[in-house]
Order: sequence, then C-alpha cells, then structure tokens
Amino acid sequence: MNAQAKNERPETSGKETHFGFRTVAEEEKVGLVHEVFEKVAERYDLMNDLMSGGLHRAWKQVMIDWLNPPRGERPFHLIDVAGGTGDIAFRFLDRAGPNAQVTVCDINRHMLGVGRGRAEAKAYEGRVEFACGNAEVLPFPDRSFDAYTIAFGIRNVTHIDRALKEAYRVLKPGGRFLCLEFSQVSVPGMDRIYDAYSFAAIPRMGEWVTGDGAPYQYLVESIRRFPDQETFKRMIVDAGFGRVSYRNLTGGVAALHSGWRL
Ligand code: SAM
Repeated sequence: MNAQAKNERPETSGKETHFGFRTVAEEEKVGLVHEVFEKVAERYDLMNDLMSGGLHRAWKQVMIDWLNPPRGERPFHLIDVAGGTGDIAFRFLDRAGPNAQVTVCDINRHMLGVGRGRAEAKAYEGRVEFACGNAEVLPFPDRSFDAYTIAFGIRNVTHIDRALKEAYRVLKPGGRFLCLEFSQVSVPGMDRIYDAYSFAAIPRMGEWVTGDGAPYQYLVESIRRFPDQETFKRMIVDAGFGRVSYRNLTGGVAALHSGWRL
C-alpha cells in the first residue's frame, strides 16, 4: 500500500488542485480518487444504474455508435482508459468484428478485478486485456491504438491536459479520440432539478446501497468542477487533435467529445 492509500500526507510541491469541492495538494488527489473507487468497486455497476436511472447505458451506446468500429475482418485495437469494470470494452466487442481487441487501462486494480470477472463470464478473455496504469503516463508505446475511449474517467484525473496529450501520443495517425463525461446542463430549468437530484439523492442512495455516502458526494462534486463543453473542446484542440466536435446527451447532463489524430 502506498503512502497516499494509507492516508499519510505525501511530500507536496506546493501546487493545489480540487477533489470535489475541497482544495487539496496535487500529490494527494490520486490517492483520494483511488480510495473512492476502492470503496465503490463491488457495487459500481449497480450504483451506475440506480444513479442514472439506466441512462448511462444509452449514453455508452451512443459512444459506441459514434465510434462505429469495423464489423468485418479488419484488425482494430481500442484502448479504453479509466475503463474500470469494462463496460465500454464489452459494448465495443459486442459490436465490432472478430479481429477487434481492447485494452482496458485503469489506475485501480480493484475495478479491473471486477472487470476481469465480467470478461470471463462473457467469454471475452482472449480479446480483452486489463492493464493497471495512470491516464497521465500510459504504459504503452507511441502510436499503438486505432482508437482511444474514456468514459466518466477524465474528471478524476489530476492533470487533464497531460491525459489528453497521452491520448494523442498512443493513438496511431488517423486514430479516433472519444470522451464521454458529465457536463453542463443546457436546458433552462433542468439545471436546478438536476442539481437538487444530484446533491440530495445521490449521496443518500450511495449510503443506503453501500453504507457510505462520501464517495458519492465526491462524484457529484467532481461533476460540477469539470470544464463545460466548449472549454473541454478547446483543451482537446490544445492537445493536438483535429476535427474536434461534441454532442450533448440528455440536455447536456453528459457530453460526448470527439477528435482525431490527423
Ligand atoms: N469507464 C468506466 C465506466 O464508464 O463505467 C468506469 C468509470 S469510473 C466513474 C472512473 C474510473 O476512473 C475508475 O475506475 C477509476 O479507478 C479510474 N481512474 C481515476 N483516475 C484515474 C487515472 N488517473 N488513470 C486511470 N484511471 C483512473
């Protein structure tokens, strides 16, 4: 167990960042995020359904539709970063042709362990590999993958700009970047209802189902801290991607950003 996981305060550089609505030393964030997903891993899939009323399934399907992986014989290698329990990976394999493969990369071994169990149950073991790694320093060579996806992961990363540059680095030229993330609600009136639901209901639901509401309080707060659609689009452009665009989902509750390594 590392110092952060044991809750000891690591040496700090003096730089600060946010962890939900709290301000923390940059070096602390990765350990705090790790603790959150350590706590939620076993009930992660159930809680996703409960919190979003099943909507996350539809949003993930839109992501796979937009990716549109080849269904024929062409080999195609996807990396799904912050892939957790493998939801995106399995949806991708359900859709893609027989020579498609996927690497799920996540910083949390516990989430990956749940994913491995699901891969066995689906008999997908030969086509999916699980790798432990940080989105900011991916353990893969340059130009390795045909596509990069990240769903509900990037807002947990300490330096989003570094994660975006890594996405660019590991993609082959012509490769596709897709990011699904909670975003800014764009429908007047809906933002207040959404706020009331997220802050009042979600941490309570987490407490009932898992016995601990704190990780869900962080999840809700981290959504509010994430850049809006246009700001995030500019960050993707700054990382080097071309033809960057996005689609709002459910009035902007979530957004899907796309870019290409040209
Ligand atoms: N993509 C999955 C999905 O949509 O169901 C899981 C999303 S879950 C909300 C966020 C995931 O991001 C967790 O599994 C967590 O361990 C992972 N994560 C957080 N920080 C990370 C980092 N710096 N690098 C890689 N993965 C990270």
